Amino acid sequence: MLQLAEMFYSIQGEGFWTGTPAVFVRLAGCNLNCRFCDTDYSLKFLASVDDVVARVRELGGDCPMVVLTGGEPLAQTESSKLIDALRADGRRVHIESNGTIPVELAPDVWLTVSPKERLDPAMAGRADEVKLIVDGRVPDEWLSAFEGRDVPVFLQPEGNKPANVALALGAAQAAPARYRLSLQTHKFIGVP
Ligand code: SF4
Repeated sequence: MLQLAEMFYSIQGEGFWTGTPAVFVRLAGCNLNCRFCDTDYSLKFLASVDDVVARVRELGGDCPMVVLTGGEPLAQTESSKLIDALRADGRRVHIESNGTIPVELAPDVWLTVSPKERLDPAMAGRADEVKLIVDGRVPDEWLSAFEGRDVPVFLQPEGNKPANVALALGAAQAAPARYRLSLQTHKFIGVP
C-alpha cells in the first residue's frame, strides 16, 4: 500500500511547467528534515496503486500531467509501481524529489530535483530541472553536481518572502545564463 498525505487537482505553480493543469499526489513521509520545510506530508490515508490511478482519473479526467510530490515521493517501496501504472494510464508523470534516493526512471518521466543534502549523483545526472530553494542565501554549492548538462536551474524564494525574492531576483539578474526565477504562483491565486 502507498502512504499518502493528499491528492488534488490544481495547476503547477512552480518551475518549468508553471501554469500547467496537473493532478497532485502528495506521498507521505520524507527522508530529510529541512529546517525551512513548510509542507504537511504527514500520513493521512493509505491507498493501493490502482486506487490512486482511479482517483487521479476522478479528479483530473483526461489531464495528462500528474505530479508526484511529498515529502519524498521516491521513498516508498511502491513508488515505481505507481509511476508505471500512471504511465500505463496515459499520464505524463512528473516527480518532485530531493534527489537523495537513486531510482531508475523511464525517459518520459519528468524529474525535478531540489537538492538540500545527500544529493545522489545519479539523480543529479537524471534531473530535467533543478530547483534551488533560496532561504537567506543561494545554495549554489549544489550546482557542480549538474555541471556539463543543459538543465534549467530555478531559484525559488522560500515562502515567496520579500527578502528571499529580492535575493533570488538579484542572483538571477547577475547570472542570467545560469538562473531563472521561480515563484510559487499558485499561492497568488489561492489554490493548493
Ligand atoms: S526534502 Fe522537501 S519535503 Fe523533505 S523535509 Fe526537506 S523541504 Fe520538506
